[in-house]
Amino acid sequence: MKKEMSRRKFVSGSIGAGAGALIFPQLSPVTPRSQANPLKPIILTSHSNETGRLAMEAGWEVLKVGGNAVDAVEKAANVIESDPEDTSVGYGGLPNEHGVVQLDASFMDGKTYSAGAVACLENIMHPSSVAKLVMQRTDHVLLVGAGALEFARAWGFPEENLLTEKARKIWLRWKEELSPGDDWGSPEHLQKLKRKESYYKDFPDIEHHYGTTNVIAIDSNGDMAGCTTTSGLSFKLNGRVGDSPIIGAGLYVDNEVGAAGATGRGEDVIKSCASYYIVMRMKEGVAPQKACEEALKMIIDRYRKVNPDFYPSEKFVAINRLGEYGCASMTGDKNPLMSVMSGKGFLRHEGIVAWPGMK
Ligand code: ASP
Repeated sequence: MKKEMSRRKFVSGSIGAGAGALIFPQLSPVTPRSQANPLKPIILTSHSNETGRLAMEAGWEVLKVGGNAVDAVEKAANVIESDPEDTSVGYGGLPNEHGVVQLDASFMDGKTYSAGAVACLENIMHPSSVAKLVMQRTDHVLLVGAGALEFARAWGFPEENLLTEKARKIWLRWKEELSPGDDWGSPEHLQKLKRKESYYKDFPDIEHHYGTTNVIAIDSNGDMAGCTTTSGLSFKLNGRVGDSPIIGAGLYVDNEVGAAGATGRGEDVIKSCASYYIVMRMKEGVAPQKACEEALKMIIDRYRKVNPDFYPSEKFVAINRLGEYGCASMTGDKNPLMSVMSGKGFLRHEGIVAWPGMK
């Protein structure tokens, strides 16, 4: 409680100070890379587990022989989407309230300013690849539900059951324990919003309802691409679309500046256009690490007006065109990690928790 009070004081103390004046307790120094020596090619993902590493290797195979960023990002995202143990993306993702896996994904090409996305896509393991085709082979940006599936079918994507036994059991446990913590809400529900109880007591490896992956790459030409792919908020209302397929929210890529991607509570990310905000901060010269932290601060400042006790669980990753990168998460006991692969090899980069210990 004491901790919470002092944190809140810090928040209100910094409101109005201006974004440039924000100070986070654990702010990491960012060493500017020489403009003449940008780090490229490079690929990164918000996934920090072994699958994240394998994904980086797959993307690197494309980049190291001069392949383009779009292909590298797709290859890497496909690895994460195929992992049956990952309950937040693609195959094995947790389902919606009816036990149906509905996937969202977006793709953006920073060179051509093209973008494509799918939302509420069922039965297709690689929504990132479908999003890439929406980007490359249509004049649209976003296809949803039955239309997205029809498009995927037309391109020959196989249909399969994406609900694994593990995800089905977790969903059933949630059904059994339906509580006031679900996503149906009265007009006042934002004031009462708390981070949700864990429905996963029997699944200690699963910590929360959210999970997504962002993959971003810069190829040897300096061209940039990104993808965000997810099964979205678990047990969401049927038809709910999160931030991941919304360009500017879950993903934004601009060759001239950099790219950013979001995971976490998509509702806040949509309302704050967070990825676009981060890229625009980088355009003003802010380092990727700091731009991610500023986006979290923006969301928190807005929430203070509605519910001072609510700390939504976003995590942002960003990279600028020089190959400098960073990541930050809203809450948690551990600093967020991201996986990075470049000519310097593979590494797990540790970012910053803006509000450590808050629930
Ligand atoms: N942002 C995703 C969504 O809201 C979920 C997540 O990243 O955890 O659908």
